[in-house]
Formats: sequence, C-alpha cells, structure tokens
Amino acid sequence: MVNITGSTQLLGVMGYPIEHSLSPALHNAALFSRAVALASAEFKSAEFKSAEPELEYIYLPLKVPPEHLGAALQGMMAIGWRGFNVTIPHKQAVMPYLQQISPLAEAVGAVNTVWREGEAWAGTNTDVHGFLAPLQAYEVNWSAVDACVLGGGGAARAVIVACAQLGCRSVRVVGRDRAKLEPLQHSLGVSLKTLGLDTLLSIAEWQDLDQYLPQAGLLVNTTPIGMYPKVGESPLSSERIGRLPLQAIVYDLIYTPRPTKLLTDAQALGYRVLDGLEMLIHQGAAAFEIWVGEPPSIAAMRQAAIAQLQPSPKA
Ligand code: NAP
Repeated sequence: MVNITGSTQLLGVMGYPIEHSLSPALHNAALFSRAVALASAEFKSAEFKSAEPELEYIYLPLKVPPEHLGAALQGMMAIGWRGFNVTIPHKQAVMPYLQQISPLAEAVGAVNTVWREGEAWAGTNTDVHGFLAPLQAYEVNWSAVDACVLGGGGAARAVIVACAQLGCRSVRVVGRDRAKLEPLQHSLGVSLKTLGLDTLLSIAEWQDLDQYLPQAGLLVNTTPIGMYPKVGESPLSSERIGRLPLQAIVYDLIYTPRPTKLLTDAQALGYRVLDGLEMLIHQGAAAFEIWVGEPPSIAAMRQAAIAQLQPSPKA
C-alpha cells in the first residue's frame, strides 16, 4: 500500500484526447518506486514513523479541450499544481501562457514540460533529450554524419534540433509538401543559429530521396507511417533501406508496434535500429528530474511502459 496524503503534490499530462497516453503509467511507476525506496530507507533509520510509504507526488491524465487551456492553467496555478507534461494538441498553444520558456523550447517551437516557479509557469522541451539519450550509447563520430529525417511535423522539429546538438554535419528533412518544408527550414535555420549550432539544414521531397540515402548515417522516421493499426506499412521499401551506408542507424519514433516494419526490414539487412520507446522514457525521465529534483528509476519506467503496451489477455 502506498498512501496519498494531504501533502501529495500533483503532476500530470495535459492533452486532448489523453486516454492512450503511456505517461501516467511511466511516471507513477517511478514515483511509487521512489516512495517505496524512501520508506525503506526510513524504516532502517532512527526516524522510523510508519511502515506505509507515502506518495510525495502523483501523476494524472488531464483531458483539456483546446478552448479551456487557459482556464486549466489558471486553475492549476490556483490549487498549487507542481508541474505537467503537454502533448497534442497543446505543445505550441501552451507557450503564450508561460512566463519563462527555455531557449531550447523556443528553438524547437514547442513545450512538453511545464513546472511552477513561485506564482509563474516555466516550460521547456525534453523531447530533444529523449531522442538523444539512446543515441549516446553508440560510439559515432557525429561530425561526419549526415542525418536524414522523414517527415517535417512537430516531432521532426525536436529531432532536427537534437541532431544539431549531437553535432551532425547536416540534417536533410524529407517531406511531401514543399510549402510546409520551406518555412520549417527557415524557422529552424534561425533557431539553430540562435543556439550556436552550425549544422547544415536542407529540405527535399520524397521523389528525390534515393539520391540522399547513400550518405545518410542516421535515418529517422518521424512520420506516422507504420504505426498501429497500419502495421504492414513502411516509409521505405527494403530495397531503398539497403541504399543506406552499412554503418547507418535507423531510428523510428513510433513505439506501437515495436518494432515497426521499417525497423524489422532494416535489422534484417544488418543495420542498427532504435524504436521510439526509449525516447518516450527519456523525455519523461528528464521531466521527472525537473519536478522531483532527482532522476527516476528508468527501469521502473521502462517496465511500466512495456507492460502497458502488451495486448491485454483475452477474457
Ligand atoms: P505531426 O506533427 O502530425 O507530423 C507528421 C509528419 O509526417 C508530417 O510532416 C506529415 O506530413 C508526415 N506524414 C504523415 N503521413 C504521411 C504519409 N503518408 N506520407 C508522407 N508523410 C506523411 O506528428 P508528430 O507529432 O510529428 O508525430 C509524428 C510521429 O512521431 C507519430 O508517429 C508519433 O507517435 C511519433 N512521436 C513519438 C515520440 C516518442 O517519444 N517516441 C514523440 C513524439 C512523436 P504533412 O505535413 O505533409 O501531412
């Protein structure tokens, strides 16, 4: 038994819809594991009071329709809410309600983590860290890597900034609509300069992709192609994947299913692959550290996420 008391602080994830978010499972697993560890340390100390761990924080799903975003933030400030994650469709919309925004979130153009600073809200973007964390396990000379990013939506913006932070020589964003790619290139080009990053950013259309694949040391899928329920789809055929250099890393932001067809095909061809689950876990871990002041148990978060993704047993 873990007790919620009058001093348990409130965290959560704000989105619309929010029912399918894995974040409550991830964060509560880490918060419960922390409460149990603290209680166990107390049990062994002279200050032992109760055998029942008390939850210092709890993390809730917050279903906030776009038209109520401002009212929700005002209400949460009034009741002493500690912090929250922000997901679709509020990642950009929340920014005008924040009194402080980190340079990284300004550069990405989206906030996914908010916390209270006295009577004000502060926000940042931990998707960049989440994307980078699993890549940092590889020994790669990133300054010699040309990254290729498929798709140019919200997640791609964090991926582009992350690739530049990693030190990639260039990032090419491949999309189907030039009219959307050009403003993306312009705004992120300015952002990268502001952050002092000199990675070359370019754009290309799908029909020209083949000529860039042989140079792409990192290929990232940020489109929803291959995501449940269309699990048989892939943004690239096996033949096209095979044009990547042998040492390339293929990274798919999707985590349902795990692996996607793109990653299954890439792995069969001998490429190193990463799915989106570690990104999800590490963006959550960075947010946790901001709110709680210490890192979470990544193992507890991972176990909860995997359990949540398992199909439930048939009745
Ligand atoms: P988004 O803003 O809607 O962007 C999706 C991008 O994919 C757009 O550029 C869109 O192009 C392109 N696209 C969609 N369908 C396409 C198709 N059939 N062919 C070619 N391009 C297509 O979505 P997002 O927020 O960036 O999310 C993208 C994916 O990343 C989702 O699968 C999401 O679950 C995943 N994600 C994972 C994490 C994680 O932690 N692992 C975090 C964020 C997102 P148009 O603009 O032309 O429509």
